[in-house]
Amino acid sequence: MKRPCPVCKKGIAVKDGNKFWPLCSERCHLVDLGKWLGEEYRVAGEVDPNLAEGAPQTSEDSENS
Ligand SMILES: [Zn+2]
Repeated sequence: MKRPCPVCKKGIAVKDGNKFWPLCSERCHLVDLGKWLGEEYRVAGEVDPNLAEGAPQTSEDSENS
């Protein structure tokens, strides 16, 4: 019985001594991990839509420092 790796779609044996299950390999494990982290970082790195929406356009940084 095999399942496709969610990252590379390669068929992988189910839990066949695979510590990276449900991913096929460490590489795909890192890719999958990076995908999650990347999304968080991307949201945090870009202009936060929530802040942009709730806060006025003026920069408050100059006043805070
Ligand atoms: Zn894979």
